[in-house]
Amino acid sequence: MAYSINDNCTNCAACVPVCPVDCISEEGDKHVIDADTCIDCGACVPECPVDAIDEP
Ligand code: SF4
Ligand code: SF4
Repeated sequence: MAYSINDNCTNCAACVPVCPVDCISEEGDKHVIDADTCIDCGACVPECPVDAIDEP
């Protein structure tokens, strides 16, 4: 399992620059995490203003 982004996502993109493996991207009206690339570091979680990133 990897970190994942839920439907609370507002597409703000605040989480994108902090990801060390660049695995967060926009997809439609929200952002998504590529589970195969995510290294479960957790750096993105505190960046999200709406708590849209769920831990594995
Ligand atoms: S947990 Fe780390 S590697 Fe995974 S999406 Fe968040 S910042 Fe990127
Ligand atoms: S920081 Fe949160 S609301 Fe903004 S794009 Fe990332 S997951 Fe979505």
